[in-house]
Amino acid sequence: MHVLKFGGTSMGDADTWQRVLDIIARYKHPFVIVSATARTTRHLLAAAEKAVTDLEEAIHISQQIHHRHHQIITNFLDNYPEVQPAITQECTQWIDDTIDELDKYLRGIHESRELTASQRDAVASVGERLSSYLFARCGTAAGLTTTWVDASDFIHTNSDFGQAVPDEKYINQKIPQWWNHRDGEEIPVMGGYYGKDTNGHLTTLGFEGSDYTASLVGAALAAESIEIWTDVSGIYTCDPQVVPQAQPIAELSFREATEMAYFGAKVLHPSTTKPASAKRIPVWVKNIFEPQQRGTRISHETHPDGDVKAMTFKKNCVVITVTSSQTVMGYEFLSGVFDILRHHHLPVDVVTTTEASVSIVMESAKRVNDAVERLASYGTVEVVHQQGIISLVGCRTNNTISLVNEILRCLEGPSANLVSYNKGKGNLNIVLREELLIQSVKAIHKHIFE
Ligand code: ADP
Ligand code: MG
Repeated sequence: MHVLKFGGTSMGDADTWQRVLDIIARYKHPFVIVSATARTTRHLLAAAEKAVTDLEEAIHISQQIHHRHHQIITNFLDNYPEVQPAITQECTQWIDDTIDELDKYLRGIHESRELTASQRDAVASVGERLSSYLFARCGTAAGLTTTWVDASDFIHTNSDFGQAVPDEKYINQKIPQWWNHRDGEEIPVMGGYYGKDTNGHLTTLGFEGSDYTASLVGAALAAESIEIWTDVSGIYTCDPQVVPQAQPIAELSFREATEMAYFGAKVLHPSTTKPASAKRIPVWVKNIFEPQQRGTRISHETHPDGDVKAMTFKKNCVVITVTSSQTVMGYEFLSGVFDILRHHHLPVDVVTTTEASVSIVMESAKRVNDAVERLASYGTVEVVHQQGIISLVGCRTNNTISLVNEILRCLEGPSANLVSYNKGKGNLNIVLREELLIQSVKAIHKHIFE
C-alpha cells in the first residue's frame, strides 16, 4: 500500500481536485492524507487572532472560507450532474456545520478577550476538517471509493498545542486495526496536521504538519512508500521560487532531507522523515502538475554525486552572544545558558564559541526576549536581529578549505557574521545580515550548481 499526501496547492481548486483524484485512481491500495485548501490555515489563524478584538472582522474571514469551499465543491460537482444533488447537499451541510462550529470558537475567543493555544489549534484544524470530508465526498462523486476518516480518531497526541507530539504507540495500533477491518475497496481520506489530546481537545502538529501525518500513517501501515505530492517536481538544489535555476535532486538520504527541512526548505516538515526512516520506508516528493516527472526519493542510501547536495536558507533569525563574566568559559556557564533555552523551548540553529563567550543563532520568536532577560545572569548579552542563515547540506568535498573559501568569496565583502562547518555531517552554515540573504543565496547557488 502507499500513503499519498496532497498539500494546500494540490487542494487549491476544483481543477486540482480532479488532478489529484486522477493520481489516486492509479494506485491499488492508497491511504490519502490532505491538507487544508490553499491559504485556508493562514486565514483561520488570522481570524483567531482578530477575534480577540474584532469579532465582526473574524466572522467576515470565516464567511470567506465558507464561500470558497462552497465554490470549490460547486465547481467540482458541476462536472458530475448525475450524482450531484445528494452529494452537494451533504457537502453543503458539512460546510455549514463546520463553519458554525468555527464561529462558535471565534465568539468564545472574543468573549474571553484572549486566544489560548488550545483555541488556536481548534480553529486551525477547521481547514483540514473541511477539505478532507469534502474531498472524500467529491471523490465518491467522481466514481472512486473514497471514505472520510477523522484524524482525531487516529492521531492522538500530547497537549503541546501548536507543536503536539503524536502518540506513536496508539497510532501504530489504531490505524492498522482500522485498515485491516475496512472494506478492502475503501480509499481512506484523512486530514493531515491535526489530532486530539487525551482530554479530547484538538491539537496540531506544527507548520506543514500534514507531511508528518503522512509519515506517521505510512509507518503505522508499513507502507511501500510515502508520497508527498506538491507543486514542484521534488526537492530542488534550492527553493525554485527564489532560484529559478535550481534543479530537482533525484536521491537524498533521510539525514540530508531532514537537515534541509530543519534549515528552512519548506517543502517538507522537519519531522516527516522520522517515522518513515525508523521503518525504512522511502519518501517520494512529486508534482501533481507533472506526475510523469521522477521527483525525489528520500531513503537510507547515500548518493555521493558532487561536492554539495543542496542549499537552504532561513530568514528572521537572531544571534545572541553571551559573554561570561569569567575569562575562561566553564561547562557550568554553557550548561546554564542552554538550560535557559530549553526552559523557553527555543531550538538552536547554529552555535559558535570563543574562550569566554557563546553565540547562538535561532529563529526570532517572542519567547527569545524572555530568554535574553534570564541569560543576563550569566554575563553580558548582545542580541543582533534580522539575521539570515544559509545552510549547505551534503557537503562531501575533501577540500574543506577551498569550499569555504569559494563560498565566502561569493558573498559581498566581509558579510558573513558566523560560519560553522561540520565535515562529518556534511553541513556548512553561514549567518549573515538578512538584507544580504537572497543575493548571497543566488551567488552561492550559481557558483556551486550552475
Ligand atoms: P504543499 O502545499 O504541497 O505542502 P508547500 O508550499 O508546503 O507545498 O511546499 C512546496 C514549496 O516548497 C515549493 O513551491 C517551493 O517554493 C518550496 N521550497 C522551498 N525549498 C524548496 C526546495 N529545496 N525544493 C523544492 N521546493 C522548495
Ligand atoms: Mg507543505
